[in-house]
Amino acid sequence: MIDTHAHLYSADFDRDRSEMIDRAIAAGVDQVFLPAIDRATHITLLELARSNPDFFKPMMGLHPCSVGGDFLDELNIVRGYLESERCCAIGEIGLDYYHSIQWKDEQQRAFATQIEWGVEMDLPIVIHSRSSLDDCIAMVKQIGKGRSRGVFHCFGGDVRQAKQAIETGFYLGIGGVVTYKNAGMAKVVAEIPLDYIVLETDAPYLTPVPHRGKRNESSYLFFVAEKIAEIKGISREEVDSITTENAKKIFKV
Ligand SMILES: [Zn+2]
Repeated sequence: MIDTHAHLYSADFDRDRSEMIDRAIAAGVDQVFLPAIDRATHITLLELARSNPDFFKPMMGLHPCSVGGDFLDELNIVRGYLESERCCAIGEIGLDYYHSIQWKDEQQRAFATQIEWGVEMDLPIVIHSRSSLDDCIAMVKQIGKGRSRGVFHCFGGDVRQAKQAIETGFYLGIGGVVTYKNAGMAKVVAEIPLDYIVLETDAPYLTPVPHRGKRNESSYLFFVAEKIAEIKGISREEVDSITTENAKKIFKV
C-alpha cells in the first residue's frame, strides 16, 4: 500500500518515529508521501525524506491555514524548494474557510499560483479543502483548464462533488473518515469506482476506527483499506493493488 498523505515528520512522532515506521512496513505500507505545511516544517520534512528516499517522497507547498500577510514570502520559499528538490507533488494547497476566512482572498491567490506551478512543472497537486470544496473545484477547472492533475486529499464532499472532482481529472484521497459511522463517506466510496481512489492516513490526524481518538500513524492504513474492501465487497489485496497503481500513475513514482 502507499500512504499518499502523512505528516510523519511531525513532532508527534519524535519519541518513536523509527518504531512507528517499522510498524507501517509490517502492516504492508511500501511508501509514504509527505505533504508540506509551511516554512516552520519544510526542513524537517525534507530531512526525513532524505533519510530514506525510497520509502518517503516529499511534497512541497503552502497549506491554506498557513496563508497570512506574509504569503508571498512563503510562496517564494516553496518555489525555491520545488526547483532544488525532487518533489512528487505540490501540496498540500487549497482553501480552508472552516478555520478562518480572514485571509480568504490571499488563500485564493496562493492556491491559484500553486495550481499554475503544477501545470508549468508537470506536477500533481494535493488539495486540502474545508468548507470550500465547490470553490476548490471551480478554481482547478478555471486555472488548470484540464491540465491539472492530482488528489482531493481527505475528500469530504458528496457524490455529486466527487463526480465533479473526477471529471476535472482528479482522484479522491480516502482515509480514516471512511470508518466513521456518521460521516457519509461510505456512500461516496460505494458509488465511485476504485480507479479514482487513493489511500491516505493524514497521520497524526483523523485516526480510523478502532483506534479513533488516539494518534494516527501509517500502519493504520490497513484499517482504511479493509473498510473500503468491505464497502466494495472485494478483498483488501485488490484494494491495495488498484489504489497503489493509481498512486503510482498520479505521482509518477
Ligand atoms: Zn495533511
